[in-house]
Amino acid sequence: MHSLTESYINMSTTIEKVKCLIIGSGPAGYTAAIYASRANMFPVLYQGSQPGGQLTTTNEVENWPGNPEGITGPEMMVNLQAQAQRFGADIRDGWVSKVDFSGPIHKVWVNDEKEIHCETVIISTGASAKYLGLPSEQHYLQMGGGVSACAICDGFFYRNQEVVIVGAGDSACEEAHYLSKLCKKVTMLVRTENFRASKIMEERVRKTENIEIMLNTETVEVLGDDQVVTGVKVLNKSTDQEQSIPATGFFVAIGHKPNTDIFKEYIDLDETGYIKSIPGTSKTNVKGVFVGGDAADHVYRQAITAAGTGCMAALDAERYLASLE
Ligand SMILES: Cc1cc2nc3c(=O)[nH]c(=O)nc-3n(C[C@H](O)[C@H](O)[C@H](O)COP(=O)(O)OP(=O)(O)OC[C@H]3O[C@@H](n4cnc5c(N)ncnc54)[C@H](O)[C@@H]3O)c2cc1C
Repeated sequence: MHSLTESYINMSTTIEKVKCLIIGSGPAGYTAAIYASRANMFPVLYQGSQPGGQLTTTNEVENWPGNPEGITGPEMMVNLQAQAQRFGADIRDGWVSKVDFSGPIHKVWVNDEKEIHCETVIISTGASAKYLGLPSEQHYLQMGGGVSACAICDGFFYRNQEVVIVGAGDSACEEAHYLSKLCKKVTMLVRTENFRASKIMEERVRKTENIEIMLNTETVEVLGDDQVVTGVKVLNKSTDQEQSIPATGFFVAIGHKPNTDIFKEYIDLDETGYIKSIPGTSKTNVKGVFVGGDAADHVYRQAITAAGTGCMAALDAERYLASLE
């Protein structure tokens, strides 16, 4: 294990130099840190405003391999952090506020103050699920009482139950279809007259017997007994009539926002803000800058895929550094 003095810090100036800077502390960032520290890249990782990432907001993770009884999100992330630290990864508090990737040395500023010059950067800043913003939705989300933005993560907890899903795009259709295989009934709320999804996805949903589609319908309130969701009050905008739908789960599938704004001047993003990587790799359009996790993934968005691509980013960074020698 290296010590801080052996590491890559230039103490004579206020600018710190690092071989490998990792931005973000979700499964992608910590996995990249495990691999990079074991490859003697002395990674420095900034945790951002949500140390441990999205999974710290969930109680039950049942699909992370190696924990047959499941594990809580916070415990899983503490374990990942400890594993990275065991090999010497330097895990720090701090928010990356600005970057400059215009030259061969990548410049990064932390909390608008500290300047760091990096040979390689691994972006693992994740994405944030969008919610409707209703107070009742937020209440049951915080309680862990039946509001979710991830059908694949949480659908299993609602087997043979009735659920409601909000959304009209391809992801919403895919998640509704996924839920229909587990749940007794899925009610899909579409705010306008039409789906935004592709015709093929819309057709798949329409043909599924236990999915009921309600067009022109808005969520008014998530109903419950204060602890758990028991239903959803909706408004049909064509008839102006309200009704309550019984449900134990309320799924929100209205999109995600990747946390990539600070990179957009230098890094190629797709039209929704996800980082574009060279297919089959973690490489971005900037040499020496790599990406892992949900920041580049609007398709899978799982802890295991984030960890996998975090691993790829560390390996690609290590090979990039070797190619410069
Ligand atoms: C409620 C919920 C339940 C879920 N359940 C499951 C589940 O059961 N199983 C599963 O596989 N997946 C689940 N997921 C999905 C899973 O959490 C994500 O796929 C995974 O966390 C993505 O990992 P990531 O490393 O890409 O980023 P994230 O976990 O999103 O972490 C991003 C990190 O980047 C940091 N960051 C962002 N911007 C900056 C910045 N400018 N400077 C420094 N740091 C920054 C944040 O602080 C955070 O630490 C769930 C998601 C949610 C929201």
